[in-house]
Amino acid sequence: MTTITAGLNNITQEIPVRGMMANVMEQFNSAADQINLHPNIRKILSITNNEIIVNFPVKMDNGEVEIFTGYRVQHNNALGPYKGGLRYHPTVDIDAARALAMWMTWKTSLAGLPFGGGKGGIKIDPSKYSKDELERITRRFTFALADNIGPEHDIPAPDVNTNSQTMAWMADTYMSTRPPAERTANQHVVTGKPAGSGGLDGRDRSTGYGVYLSIKFWAEKNNKTLEGKTFIIQGFGNVGYWAGYFLEKDGAILVGVQDAYGSIQNKKGIQVEDLFKYIQVSDGSVVNFPNAQSVNKDDFFGLDCDICIPAALGNQITKENAPSIKAALIAEGANGPINVEGEKILLERGITIIPDILCNSGGVVGSYFEWLQNRNGELWQYDEVMGKLHKKIKESFDKVYEYSEREAMDMRTAAYCIAIKRIEKAYVQRGIFP
Ligand code: NAD
Repeated sequence: MTTITAGLNNITQEIPVRGMMANVMEQFNSAADQINLHPNIRKILSITNNEIIVNFPVKMDNGEVEIFTGYRVQHNNALGPYKGGLRYHPTVDIDAARALAMWMTWKTSLAGLPFGGGKGGIKIDPSKYSKDELERITRRFTFALADNIGPEHDIPAPDVNTNSQTMAWMADTYMSTRPPAERTANQHVVTGKPAGSGGLDGRDRSTGYGVYLSIKFWAEKNNKTLEGKTFIIQGFGNVGYWAGYFLEKDGAILVGVQDAYGSIQNKKGIQVEDLFKYIQVSDGSVVNFPNAQSVNKDDFFGLDCDICIPAALGNQITKENAPSIKAALIAEGANGPINVEGEKILLERGITIIPDILCNSGGVVGSYFEWLQNRNGELWQYDEVMGKLHKKIKESFDKVYEYSEREAMDMRTAAYCIAIKRIEKAYVQRGIFP
C-alpha cells in the first residue's frame, strides 16, 4: 500500500491510498503529467483541505441509543465553496469520502462553476431504520456538522440513499439553529431540496438528464442516432431512472438493469416507466419484474447492448469484467464506476468512456441553479432550468470532446486536464498565503 501525506490546516497524517482513492489519484497524476502541472499546485491538489469525522448519538424507536459515524471531507475551495453530496451507505468511510470529494473538485471546475469539492455521508444501511429514525439521524448529523457546513462555505446535496426529503430535514435543522433574522437567508445551505421548500423545479432529473445529453452529444458527433440503440443500466435510482427515462423518449431501448437486489434483462425491451412503477411497490427492487428474465450478477456487464450506464457505486467495472463488455460506449452516471485497470482494458478494446466528471455533472449544475435561485430570492421555471442545463452540458461536452480529439487522448484525461488547468490558473493568479 502506498501513502500520500495530507498537511493543510496544520494536520499532517498518512493517508492510505487504496480503493477509490487510488483511482482518483492515478487519474489526477496522469492528467497532471500531461499538462506539466506546477509541482506546488500538484502538492496542494493531492491532499484534502479539511476532514471532519463526527460520532453522534441518536435515540431509536425502541428507546435505545445508537452511535453513528458521519464524515465530511472538504478537498479544495480555490474556486468557491465546497460542494458535493452526502451518501448513506455501509461502504462510506474516510477513503471513499476523500476520493469522492476530489472528484467533486474536478467536476465543479470542469463545469465552470464557482464551487470547490466536498463529499461525505454516514456509514449506515438506511434500509434497517424507520423513516422517523432516519429523520433524527439526519438532523443530529446536521447539528454535529454545525458550522463546518454553510451556504457560502460547504453546501451538501443528495447522493446514494439520500434524497430531497433528507435535504429538507438538513435545511430545516441548519436554519433552525441560526438567529431568527438569519434563518431564511440560509436556505441554500443544501441543494436538492423538494420544489416546495426552496428546491429547484427539475433538480430531481438534472443528473440523469445530463447523462442522457452526454450520450446524445456523443452520438451526434459520431453521426449516430439513439433510435433503436440498446442500453443497460446498473442502479435504477435517481440517476439511472432519469437517464433511462430520457433515452427511451429518444427511441433507445432498455434491455438490462441491475440494482442492489438483483439483475434482469429482456432483449425486446423493458419499459422504463413500468419498471419505475414496479419498484414503488417492491421495496425499491427490480427483482421479479414481470416480462423480464433474471440474470446472474456476474454476467450483467456482459449483456449485449450498444450503451452501458453504470449508475450505482464506484469500482464496478474492473479487470475481471471489462473484457466481457459488449457496449461501444460507457456513460458514467456513477462516480468512479470504472477502476484504472478496467479502464485500460476498455480503452485498448476501443470502447469510448464518457467520464463521470462530465457525464454526471448535470446534478451539480442543477444544484448551482438552485443555490443561485435561493441566494437571489428567485423562482426559476422548469423550461428555463432544462434549457440552461442543456446549454451548460453542451459547452462542457464540446470542450472535452474537442480537447480529446486535438490532443489525441481519451475523454477522461481531457476532462481532467481542462479542470485542473482552471484551478492552476486561480492559484497562479492569487498566490499562496502568506
Ligand atoms: P440512489 O440511491 O438513488 O440509487 C442507487 C441505485 O444503485 C439503487 O437502484 C440501488 O439499488 C443501486 N445499487 C446500490 N448498490 C448496488 C450494487 N452493489 N450493485 C448494483 N446496484 C446497486 O443513488 P443515485 O443518487 O442515483 O446515485 C447513483 C450514483 O450516481 C452514485 O455513484 C452517485 O455518487 C452518482 N451521482 C449522483 C448524483 C445525484 O444527483 N443523485 C449526481 C452525480 C453523481
